Amino acid sequence: MTQIIMHVDVNSAFLSWTAAYEKQMGIDRDIREAASVIGGKEESRHGIVLAKSVLAKKFKIQTGMSLMEARKLCPNLLVVPPNYSIYVRASKVLRNYLMTYTPDVQVFSIDECFLRFTDLKREEALKVAYKIKDGVKEKFGYTVNIGVSENKLLAKQAGDLEKPDKCHTMFLDEIKDKLWVLPVEDLYMVGRKTKPKLNKLGILTVGDLANSDYNLISSMLKSHGRLIYNYAWGRDNSNFKDKDPVKSVGNSSTIKFNVTDEETAHVILLSLTEMTAWRLREANMNCRVVSVSIKDKDFNCASKQRKLAYFTDCTRDIYKNICNLFDELWDKSPIRQLGVSVSDLEFSNVKQLNIFQDELSIKNEVLDKAVDKIRAKFGDESIIRGVFANSDLKPILGGYPDDEHPGISSIL
Ligand SMILES: [Mg+2]
Repeated sequence: MTQIIMHVDVNSAFLSWTAAYEKQMGIDRDIREAASVIGGKEESRHGIVLAKSVLAKKFKIQTGMSLMEARKLCPNLLVVPPNYSIYVRASKVLRNYLMTYTPDVQVFSIDECFLRFTDLKREEALKVAYKIKDGVKEKFGYTVNIGVSENKLLAKQAGDLEKPDKCHTMFLDEIKDKLWVLPVEDLYMVGRKTKPKLNKLGILTVGDLANSDYNLISSMLKSHGRLIYNYAWGRDNSNFKDKDPVKSVGNSSTIKFNVTDEETAHVILLSLTEMTAWRLREANMNCRVVSVSIKDKDFNCASKQRKLAYFTDCTRDIYKNICNLFDELWDKSPIRQLGVSVSDLEFSNVKQLNIFQDELSIKNEVLDKAVDKIRAKFGDESIIRGVFANSDLKPILGGYPDDEHPGISSIL
């Protein structure tokens, strides 16, 4: 018997969990029925929309939007502050419930789990999925989507079909009808950087990708191209629990001249950190360890790393530590290459405030998000730090190396 994989995804998790919690506390309202969002105080870093209700969506409110923008679209918007401890608890409770169906539960993010069944017939799988979905609703008062398939990739794709409160199958023999008809950007791991490249080749749907020239995709997008091509065919060779394969994200740059002063080195490190932190945020991850590497003109290498007191994806925090490390490490010999990398990664879906973080770093996180948004819209160099304005140094070093994805490819 082959394995059955299910992907369980809480619908509008933060909103659902808050609503369920309020109900438990006897609060006489259901924020899901109103035009509401989960979002923090305007002056803090939570001043963006973290989750929205169906009604809020009708006002064109989007996740990630600032609360100010959201209020403009809907003046009567109900803004409920986030409560991460509720989410963490709700997530654990859900996981424990899912474990009553199978011991093989893999947490994918705060509101997503994969389940594996090795003794379940395909014909019965959907029935069990419905039982789990309805069980969650009855027991906890919120809804989930469940996707059912032979592997994690397709289970996740199935779970992303019509929402909320739905179960879908997407077995390998169903991909033509269910996967290939989707726009190519709906395929897992096809990001906003890849979509236009594929569209330019006339690849608009997942089916187009599956039936495209493998060699062309492979030569153009390298390993990432090979990965998404295989995904388009529903091929996912990962084991059930080989999670967290992304060990580090980083960038290095060979410099055209020898760097002999600290100031220039710091500017280059900033440029490298900008890209590293951006990629980290793009992958929805935080890091705990930062490291710096130096290669001098005689190709002697040195590197140093440090464990931080907290997980972060903040450019400023990472940069500050990178500079300290560099200053400790550098022996003043002329530098030809500098590298920055971060490791000990975790998903950032839920980030808890911590006592080590200062006010400025919280503000900087908001800034990072705004900068990311502008860059996504107008290009990588549409916004650069002042220090780069009158220099020949590139403001953001390193691209998305082809063979190194900060994403989650092999988590699947
Ligand atoms: Mg969800």
